[in-house]
Amino acid sequence: MNLAVPREIQPGETRVALTPDTAAKLVRLGARVAVEADAGLFAGFPDEVYAKAGAAVVADRQALLQGADLVLRVRKPPLTEVPLLKRGAFHVSLLDPFNEPELVRALAAQGVSAISMEFIPRTTRAQKMDVISSQANLGGYEAVILAARYSRKIFPMMTTAAGTIFPAKVFIIGVGVAGLQAIATARRLGAKVIAYDPRPAVEEQVKSLGAQFLRIDLDATGQTKDGYARALTAEQIERQRAAMTQTCADADVVITTAQVFGKPAPLLVTKEMLAAMPPGSVVVDLAVESGGNVEGVEYDRVTVSGGVQLIGLANLPGRVPTHASQVYAANLAALVEEFWDPAAKVFAPRLDDEIIKGCLVTHGGRIVSERLADRKN
Ligand code: NAD
Repeated sequence: MNLAVPREIQPGETRVALTPDTAAKLVRLGARVAVEADAGLFAGFPDEVYAKAGAAVVADRQALLQGADLVLRVRKPPLTEVPLLKRGAFHVSLLDPFNEPELVRALAAQGVSAISMEFIPRTTRAQKMDVISSQANLGGYEAVILAARYSRKIFPMMTTAAGTIFPAKVFIIGVGVAGLQAIATARRLGAKVIAYDPRPAVEEQVKSLGAQFLRIDLDATGQTKDGYARALTAEQIERQRAAMTQTCADADVVITTAQVFGKPAPLLVTKEMLAAMPPGSVVVDLAVESGGNVEGVEYDRVTVSGGVQLIGLANLPGRVPTHASQVYAANLAALVEEFWDPAAKVFAPRLDDEIIKGCLVTHGGRIVSERLADRKN
């Protein structure tokens, strides 16, 4: 089975889908692994290390894709590369299928079996394949590091002969995987942390990390069977904003991570709320790629609004590409291993398996994802 890892070509993408260690693991399973030249360059994995791990390093991208039975990559394939893929080949990557109907149709028409890593179900068995969590975790860490870099204050309390410096106040909105890691990281740096999420189950987790939980009474909220938050009503969002205004005004740093799966992110921090924050304070919007939680934030830019620094930098996991690639590759290797047929030495997922039913988007010339079908109805 020919397994191919092309170099990522989306501007700003620094990660790679397989590290040398995971390549070696798949070679041991019996796969013939080929990696495009320079694929791991930004992530800190030079070609020689892949070669040592038993992978072929290939300069001809077109030939690499044309010969592959299984393609592994981070980002969705460009439409122009779909015709290069073999009929019956598997393609595993982030796919953004809700927003890419044309790409999904092209993959189906090409007879490619495309797996969308965003659609890996959130079950215990599939946890080791969950790239959304592995990347969000690093995004949460990186958001705090960026905030600390841009802040004019230090995070920890210091008592010195020159007096006492009080800890920075960090407000974290949205406590999923990214938010939890942001709390833990800000606490490790010594900040005073307060956090908020509409899912009441989160309060205990926040407190166990040594942070305070901001309670806002919204009546009914809830979560889907996959653990995601449900979208709030306009009236509930309004109540949230009112309740968060004072906490924002008191904060040196606000980090927003609020997302609702498959929908634009809710707008939670308005221009009025920003205006009440002290000049020099920092807001990091981790939801910028799904529309942003902060009014006026600009995609992949750092701007200043009324003295407040707004950080809308995209792809925060890509700022720590060695570790982001390490965990992304481990997620993909776990998927390949789970469905590896050791006798035939091929990736042969069972179509009735719950994980595959969740994440397989196209197969046998058709779009097979129930999740995509549900969205259309
Ligand atoms: P996410 O990225 O979809 O959203 C981030 C956070 O934003 C969530 O906590 C959500 O409640 C919050 N949010 C949504 N609307 C908001 C609003 N109006 N105001 C403030 N916050 C808002 O979520 P995620 O990080 O992917 O994970 C959500 C949950 O799923 C977590 O509790 C996580 O532990 C759980 N999870 C379970 C598994 C598993 O069982 N295998 C795997 C991954 C995650």
